[in-house]
Amino acid sequence: ISQEPKGISLPKWFNPSAREDVHTLTTWSAPIIWEGTFERSVLEDYYKEQKVTVGLTVFAIGKYLDKYLKTFLTSANTFFMPGHNVIFYIVVDNLSRVPLIELGPLRTLKFFQVEKESRWQDISMMRMKTIGNLIESHIRHEVDFLFCMDVDQVFESTYGVETLDESVAQLQAWFYKANRESFTYERNPESAAYIPYAEGDFYYHAAVFGGTPQRVYNLTRECYEGIRHDKEHNLEAIWHDESHLNKYYLQNKPSKVLSPEYCWDYKIGWSFDIKNIKLSWMPKAYEEVRNN
Ligand code: UDP
Ligand code: MN
Repeated sequence: ISQEPKGISLPKWFNPSAREDVHTLTTWSAPIIWEGTFERSVLEDYYKEQKVTVGLTVFAIGKYLDKYLKTFLTSANTFFMPGHNVIFYIVVDNLSRVPLIELGPLRTLKFFQVEKESRWQDISMMRMKTIGNLIESHIRHEVDFLFCMDVDQVFESTYGVETLDESVAQLQAWFYKANRESFTYERNPESAAYIPYAEGDFYYHAAVFGGTPQRVYNLTRECYEGIRHDKEHNLEAIWHDESHLNKYYLQNKPSKVLSPEYCWDYKIGWSFDIKNIKLSWMPKAYEEVRNN
């Protein structure tokens, strides 16, 4: 499947032909990062020299604070950008319940407190507003690249510099083999997140997105505008912030796409193309955590 399009020069660290069982380039020639396609050591030297700093925002509100934050941060300490400067931006609704976590020398924790929205859908969607504000007030002065992630996940192996780029999107693990008609995009034309059946590149997962602070800022602001538009019209997109994120990436193509190895759900079972899982979904008792 993997073919190098004519006239595109590929960087030294990326070899799209190394995996023949999966798509490794988008139609707009952005790399899709699968295990085996990248040479991490080439990039390590470059980013070490650049003394790069990577930010990671994560929200842990209500029950998610006690249930997921410690596992997420402890595993991120080990596996997220090892050897590079990392700043964790942790947003909670109760600073007194934050767990004690010992981090490695290149890691910094910054905590922020917000009011808890009462509906889980709003907790999830309002992240777009808060992340935009944090980028303006802190993050843009402090990091070169930023990731924004769900807290209900755990790192399992090196989530490294091969993921860094201007604008980074994550393939949703349940949909990477599906056709676009079955993607769970918002299908109501009245919603700002609307995508017609004939359109769409991938179904992206809102549990992971990233890029430069400026590009992530643009994304969060536009998604939040869409969310506000829908609220004013008494609408709510089917998958909340994720629907708006998919609309954004349809119109603003990501410069890098991450394979489901970067956000895998073990409930899917074994799949021939999943070679090295970097981050996986934590088991979730929906009834329990969403009953606030
Ligand atoms: N979240 C939270 N408390 C809540 C609901 C959501 O902290 O009560 C945050 C948390 O970071 C979570 C993210 O919003 O990972 C998205 O929600 P969730 O993971 O429940 O969505 P799903 O992955 O099931 O679509
Ligand atoms: Mn989640």
